[in-house]
Amino acid sequence: MIPLSIPKIEGNESKYVLDCLNTGWISSAGSYVNQFEEMIANYAGAKYGVACMNGTAGLHIAQILLGITEDDHVIAPNITFIATLNAIKYTGATPILIDVDPENWQMDLELLVNYLNTQTELRTTEAGTFSFDTTTNKRVRAIMPVHVLGNIGDMDSMVAIAKTYHLDIIEDSTEALGSTFNDKHAGTFGKLGVFSFNGNKIISTGGGGVIVTDDEALAKKARHLTTQAKVSAMDYIHDEIGYNYRLVNVLAAIGVAQMETFPETLKAKKAMDAFYRSQLEGVADIKFQEIPKGTDPNCWLFTFTTSRMRELLDYLNKNGVQSRPFWMPMNQLDMFKEDIYITEKDVSASVYQNSISIPSSAGITKEQLERVVRTIKAFYRN
Ligand SMILES: *Cc1c(COP(=O)(O)O)cnc(C)c1O
Repeated sequence: MIPLSIPKIEGNESKYVLDCLNTGWISSAGSYVNQFEEMIANYAGAKYGVACMNGTAGLHIAQILLGITEDDHVIAPNITFIATLNAIKYTGATPILIDVDPENWQMDLELLVNYLNTQTELRTTEAGTFSFDTTTNKRVRAIMPVHVLGNIGDMDSMVAIAKTYHLDIIEDSTEALGSTFNDKHAGTFGKLGVFSFNGNKIISTGGGGVIVTDDEALAKKARHLTTQAKVSAMDYIHDEIGYNYRLVNVLAAIGVAQMETFPETLKAKKAMDAFYRSQLEGVADIKFQEIPKGTDPNCWLFTFTTSRMRELLDYLNKNGVQSRPFWMPMNQLDMFKEDIYITEKDVSASVYQNSISIPSSAGITKEQLERVVRTIKAFYRN
């Protein structure tokens, strides 16, 4: 079976992990954690990085940092991996789901503006001026764009929209390490961005995440909250409810090694993407995700649409090519059925019905790529 997406471990991973074991620095204190944070922040062009045990934890902390509570709404795209929505729900906030653009599958900015225009108003409170949903009377505190599949929508427009409506942006950049829009890296457009290093992401620590920000106070608070909010080095004094969310040194050590080889990983992903595009262009009704002008994506997971998605999915998995459908749209899941969903044509449903992801590991060989393409073409000849 050619796997869908597995990590590439060809650098100093074992050497650095062994270093942790031999020195006894295996837990949440240790130099690899700081080094990994710095490497990610530097790579993304952010001032600070705060490592967490996974991306979901990072998204949770990012919202706590902005004071998001059960009195708030957070705007998210209707097509994303469940973790985005789970993190919103952990804070008690209520999501507002926005349908996606039919071409690039990112949050549809026209629908977003239309919602903000017609269903919210600015109100001034003690904490400042914010948009409020005029039906629920909840504050609309933040937008959480998701750079779906490492692609990036028009972030200049989103930043402008956020400014007009007094919203903060928390970027779910969990899939987008290595992706840029107008030469600016994913995760650095809003107040906070979060990366993930889960097993299937472009680089992996087994499990892990990093929050990036340019705001020193937020970075400091993030570090505090992820380490049980302890205020004294000696005494067990804590000044608020904290979390045990910090990344451990052993995993950060893997991350440092993965970052050392990241330029090659990224190159391999782009070559994989270019090969698939050249070979599958014009095959049956296959259509690719559109890459917006100005976006340089990391080509994380190759995904396309076809009206025969279910049949093709079946065929590929039976013929040694591991493939997966897209995430079920959030509005179709029981937990979010009651939440506000802003849509005109429910594009999410058709993107979901037609999308399929095919093997995209950074270490995939030329032969494997050719076999994937051959198998797809054989399916359409039947
Ligand atoms: C992977 C992922 C996350 C969560 O990251 P974990 O590190 O697995 O917790 C969140 N959102 C999206 C869109 C993801 O793909």
